[in-house]
Amino acid sequence: MTWTEALVVGAVDLGESDRIMRLLTAERGRISAVARRVRSSGKRWAGVLDVGNHVRLRFGRSRGSLASISEAEAVAAPRRARSDLERVALLAYGCELCAGLAPEDHEASKLWRLLHTWIALLEGPKTPRSASRAALEAKALTFAGLAPRLVHCARCGDLARDPLVFDPDSGGVVHQHCGAGRSILAEHAAVLEGLRRTPLADTVELELPAEVRNALPDFAEYHLGRGLKSRGLVAELGL
Ligand SMILES: [Zn+2]
Repeated sequence: MTWTEALVVGAVDLGESDRIMRLLTAERGRISAVARRVRSSGKRWAGVLDVGNHVRLRFGRSRGSLASISEAEAVAAPRRARSDLERVALLAYGCELCAGLAPEDHEASKLWRLLHTWIALLEGPKTPRSASRAALEAKALTFAGLAPRLVHCARCGDLARDPLVFDPDSGGVVHQHCGAGRSILAEHAAVLEGLRRTPLADTVELELPAEVRNALPDFAEYHLGRGLKSRGLVAELGL
């Protein structure tokens, strides 16, 4: 069997010694596979399947509906994003967000590249902050086919002018008279739209106004139908 490249985005222990790995791949989106004896045999796979790693894998026989990983080697492993708390939080958040928005067993090359770029950014000299996080969110939503409407009212289609609200249910910003939601300034919606179109690497020096930091995570959680576990820590750290 051929090698599959993947980013490790999560893991859940299974039984005495196995672990179910959650992986993001370009060709098949989000997939799960069992790593057998990964906890008991220790050395063989030590550190290879850590969350955030870029790996190459081969799959062996399936166990029920789950493929099992027969071979794995690390292509790259985060270093700074394992030792610095802010980067640790942003790594977990990026993995959870991109994997959550990725389709299961279906092509997701743009989301794969986005997460790969995010992980590389977290190894850079400066810790990405709120504007980078918003750019990541806006791009991840866009690549998942859920681009938020930020320039025109999601209800009537006219140019978004104050007073505006942000309404995930409508698909983004709406005029106050067109719907209901949390207040947002047209100027701030325009900042989010700008970040959606800016390469991640160009966002590291930027900060996002505090009032608008929750709009896109709320939007993502609305579409995921659940909360993002790593969001709390990211918010606590002011990122
Ligand atoms: Zn409207």
